Amino acid sequence: MGCDNFRYKRILLKLSGEVLAGDKSFGIDFDAVAKISKEIVEVAQHGIQIAMVVGGGNIFRGSQAAAVGMDRPQADYMGMLATVINALALQDNLERLGLPTRVQTAVNMQEIAEPFIRRRALRHLEKGRVVIFAAGTGSPYFSTDTAASLRAAEVGADCLLKATKVEGIYDKDPMKYEDAKKLSFVTYLEALSKQLKIMDATAFSLCMENSIPIIVFDILQEGNLKRLLIDGEPIGTLVSARGGVVVMAVDRKILKDMRESMKKAVEHFKSEMVGIRAGRAHPALVENIKADYYGVPTPIKQMGTISIPEPRQILISLWDKTAIKAVEKAIQASQLGVMPQVDGENIRITLPELTKERRVELSRLVKKFAEEARIAIRNIRREVLDELRRQEKEGEISEDELKRLQQEVQDITDEYIEMVNKILEEKEKEILEG
Ligand code: UDP
Repeated sequence: MGCDNFRYKRILLKLSGEVLAGDKSFGIDFDAVAKISKEIVEVAQHGIQIAMVVGGGNIFRGSQAAAVGMDRPQADYMGMLATVINALALQDNLERLGLPTRVQTAVNMQEIAEPFIRRRALRHLEKGRVVIFAAGTGSPYFSTDTAASLRAAEVGADCLLKATKVEGIYDKDPMKYEDAKKLSFVTYLEALSKQLKIMDATAFSLCMENSIPIIVFDILQEGNLKRLLIDGEPIGTLVSARGGVVVMAVDRKILKDMRESMKKAVEHFKSEMVGIRAGRAHPALVENIKADYYGVPTPIKQMGTISIPEPRQILISLWDKTAIKAVEKAIQASQLGVMPQVDGENIRITLPELTKERRVELSRLVKKFAEEARIAIRNIRREVLDELRRQEKEGEISEDELKRLQQEVQDITDEYIEMVNKILEEKEKEILEG
C-alpha cells in the first residue's frame, strides 16, 4: 500500500465532539460515528497514516461549567474525560470495520488505553494503525484544538484536518449574509487579522509556528475525506503560510486530468492503428462492418464468431446461416477492399499479400498518425504548463513547486509519448514483415 502520490501522507484529523453528536445537541450519534469511521477506513486503506484528536464538547465543556461557577480545572478534567468517552466510541467503530487502532490518553488510565508516548505513537502510525489521542493535552485551560496542533507537531503530521459541520471558512457569516463566499485559501496572517476564529489562538499559533497547514472542511458531507486526501480535490478552506499548499492539492487533480486526456489520445491512436490493414488478419477488421439483418444494420460481431485460423485469414461463422448473403454483401461494400468467399456455412476472407509500394505507403500513414498523437499529447502538456505558470505568477504556487511540477508534467508526457512510439514500432514491424 504505497501512498507516494498523495500530498498528505500523515495527517492529524481533529474531530470535535459536535461532529460526533451528528444531529443531536448532546451525546454520541452512533450513525454519525459509523459514517465518519467508514470514511476514515477508506483513506487508511490507501496507506495514509492517520492520527486523531477527539474533542468532548458533545458531552462536557469545561469553560461552560466554569461560567456557571464550577472550579475551572475541575471542570476541565471532566471535559478531558468526555474526550476519552468519544475516543473509545470511535475506536470501537473503527475496529469493527477492521482497522487497527490505539487510543493514547494524556491522562493515565492504563486499564482503558495506552498512555501518550510519542515514539510509540509514531510506531503505530508507521504500522498503519490509527492513533486516537484522547484527554486533550492533559492540562486544564487548554482546548482539544490545541491538543490537535500539539500532537500534529509532535508526530510530524503533514497537515491538520479540522473536521467541522460547515464547508469551510467564509468571508463573512454565511448564516447572516446570503452573499457570503467560501474561501478556498487564507494565509495564517489573514486568518488572524480577520479574526476568522478557526481555532483558539493557542492552537492557531502552534500551527503557524510549526508551518502545519490547517484544512477546515465538512466531514459530514459523504466522500469529502477521500476527495481531499486521495483525489487531491480542493475541499474546504486551507490555512497556510502561502497558497502553494492548497494548489498542491489542486495540482493532483490537474495531473490526474492530464493523464486522462493523454490516455485518450493514445487510445484514439490505437484505434486508428487497428483500422490500418497490414498483411495480418485481425477480427477488428470486420467486426464493426454492419450487415442488414431483418432490416436492421447489425455489426458482424453480433451475428457470429470471428476467428483467425491463419495469419492472413479471417473466418466468420454466423449463428444464423440465412444471413450469409447479407454479410457477404456488406463486406464487399466495405472499405476493406477484399473479396469474401462463402465457404460452406462460413465466410472466409483471405487478405492479399501487400505489395512493397503498399507497405511503404502504409508505413508512412502510421507514422503520420503517430505524429498526430504525439502532437495531441504535447498540446495537453502545453495547456497544463500554461496553467501552472499562471498559478505561479499569481502567487498560488511557489517557484520551487512550479519547477517540481514542471518536471512531473514532463515525466508523464514522456511516458505517454513512449506508449505511442511502442505502438508505432509494433505496427511498422507488422506492416513491413507481416
Ligand atoms: N480540555 C482540557 N484540556 C485540553 C483539552 C480539553 O481541559 O487540553 C477540556 C476542556 O474542558 C474542554 C473539554 O476538554 O472544554 C472538551 O474539549 P473541547 O471543548 O476542545 O472539545 P470540542 O469543542 O472539540 O468538542
